[in-house]
Amino acid sequence: MATLFTRIINGEIPAEIVYQDEHCVAFKDINPQAPVHILIVTRQEIPGLADLPEEGDHKFLLNAAKKIAEQMGLAGGYRLVINQGLDAGQTVDHLHVHLLGGRPMNWPPG
Ligand code: AMP
Repeated sequence: MATLFTRIINGEIPAEIVYQDEHCVAFKDINPQAPVHILIVTRQEIPGLADLPEEGDHKFLLNAAKKIAEQMGLAGGYRLVINQGLDAGQTVDHLHVHLLGGRPMNWPPG
């Protein structure tokens, strides 16, 4: 069965898409934790970072994040987060990067 994010990518569930290329699709998080909160999702259904094959070129994720941050006007900075597994609070088993910005971020994260 397709993941929630594949259903968004396929247009079966609505979302506000802000960027897409051949490898990934990015849309606004439904429960934003910052003024800008974008999810960058791999088109391929990979359950999480732990399942990402070591071979292959994965820089598209970082390049997409950089482009979206520029597009969103986040000149002051931003944060990228990947929640992997239960301890990190991952809730959707489809690899995605959170792009958060538009406010100062705390460190250490919660
Ligand atoms: P994670 O907890 O890292 O797996 O992140 C999953 C994210 O997906 C959460 O921040 C949710 O708010 C977000 N989310 C869940 N359902 C939707 C949806 N239908 N559209 C956009 N974002 C969603």
